[in-house]
Amino acid sequence: MIIVLRQGTTQKEIDQLTDVLISQGGITVNPVIGTDITILGLIGDTTHVDATRVESFHCVERIMHVAEPYKKANRMFHPQDTVVNIGGAAVGGSRLAVMAGPCSVESSEQIKTVARAVKQSGAAILRGGAFKPRTSPYAFQGLRYEGLELLKEAREATGLPIVTELMSPSDIDRFVEDVDCIQVGARNMQNFDLLRQLGKINKPVLLKRGLSATIEEWLMSAEYILSGGNEQVILCERGIRTFETYTRNTVDIGAVPVVKRLSHLPVIVDPSHGTGKRWMVSPMARAAVAVGADGVMIEVHNDPQHALCDGQQSITPEQFDEVMADIRVIAAAVGREV
Ligand code: PEP
Ligand code: MN
Repeated sequence: MIIVLRQGTTQKEIDQLTDVLISQGGITVNPVIGTDITILGLIGDTTHVDATRVESFHCVERIMHVAEPYKKANRMFHPQDTVVNIGGAAVGGSRLAVMAGPCSVESSEQIKTVARAVKQSGAAILRGGAFKPRTSPYAFQGLRYEGLELLKEAREATGLPIVTELMSPSDIDRFVEDVDCIQVGARNMQNFDLLRQLGKINKPVLLKRGLSATIEEWLMSAEYILSGGNEQVILCERGIRTFETYTRNTVDIGAVPVVKRLSHLPVIVDPSHGTGKRWMVSPMARAAVAVGADGVMIEVHNDPQHALCDGQQSITPEQFDEVMADIRVIAAAVGREV
């Protein structure tokens, strides 16, 4: 961190500011006094430096951050890729992780039918919402605890590990017990209480990017979980809000190489929520694999026309089988397997 001081700052002011900075711990302060400009270079762990407090000093012109505010998520301090194990399925290794299943768990038959089909086509992880974050309180909210039980039955029937969304911190213990990976939905990406709680558990967390979150905000949310001690975090790009209205969201495909450069965490792409259109799932899944994503999450329904949620973006098991064939070609071209 570099602190640029106002012209005319006195030595007394520099000393006062330096004392405050040093009292925050973990850093040394190197002043560089020029004829026109004086700067203070902060060396060490600046995580605990309260930038707002520093800026409140009259002598401070501005602050420049030279290192990213996330530390545990930062590739600089952890050069090798992290591989997260979801109930035996690796996310982040040479094999792409394909998560597939319905938007919502609707019935025992539905989830088992879809689970068997996606497994047959090569999916490694079953997705399915039991608790649904719906825009309208009148829309289907998910089967809740019954949905969790049905997911467990589908896991039992197929051997596929399960990922499902947690909405309330009060359900964490139940989720830790029941599921293989806990999903934090886009709408909860900055639910910091939830993130802190997830930092204390020993269970993979799939952290979706918030609807209007910058990459740095997304990585800072991951930092909440990692800094609590849970290092099993997978990032999921699921499209962001832009001025474009043709698609449900705009898949920020460029976020994949950016995140791969900035962080060691695995990153997957959800082309279903990213586009909101079933015919765009295959092209965007292929694009995701081409730019280096570690996997994809795809909504698959045995009867999309009657789906209780997100039927317009859900593909059938037959279409999913084709998508798998499509991404296999791209995976081979970029040196990955599916
Ligand atoms: C989902 O995956 O079911 C979901 C609700 O996604 P998102 O949080 O990305 O909208
Ligand atoms: Mn959905």
